[in-house]
Amino acid sequence: MLVIQVKIGIDIDGTITHPSSCFNYMNKYLGTSIDFEMASEYELHTYTEMDQIEFWEFMVKSGHELGIYRESIPQELVKQHLWDLRKQYDLHYVTARSEIVRPVTEEWIKQHELPLDSLIMTGSHDKVQVVRDLALDLFMEDRLENAIQIAEDTSIPVILFDAPYNRRPVPENIIRVSSWDEAVQTIHKFAPIR
Ligand SMILES: [Mg+2]
Repeated sequence: MLVIQVKIGIDIDGTITHPSSCFNYMNKYLGTSIDFEMASEYELHTYTEMDQIEFWEFMVKSGHELGIYRESIPQELVKQHLWDLRKQYDLHYVTARSEIVRPVTEEWIKQHELPLDSLIMTGSHDKVQVVRDLALDLFMEDRLENAIQIAEDTSIPVILFDAPYNRRPVPENIIRVSSWDEAVQTIHKFAPIR
């Protein structure tokens, strides 16, 4: 019997990790005082005096880029749900992090005992090509612009993890969820096992 596995693309930051993680790190180490519930901007540099390039150069040089990934906290129940999903679906982690931080990313995944089969590091926010290359059937994301781009360019369903910085109207094939429980119910609805 030919079994075609349903393939799910899963973003890491703000989807597997708790979306408040980066802001908490900034408050703890970089002297910001960001109220996560009021954080309407996704890009971290907007909370500093630096522009985007300056900010990430500073983060890399100071070691804070590795720090912010190391200290990220997984979303509630994500571990159990990923292991359960893995029994039925092909899971691919697709992150905008660059290849340079693969070791710290893999270390973090192991440390938190999450499954690791496939990790694609795009180094940019453009994930559409990965969706096409891997023929993904469904995507999980927290960055609104990514979700919209994937939904519009590929027409696969996208599950958007609700966060203060992505609360704007979304097209029909983007499903907003507020927990991994809800996300998994949505997956079973949209990607039944073939
Ligand atoms: Mg993300």
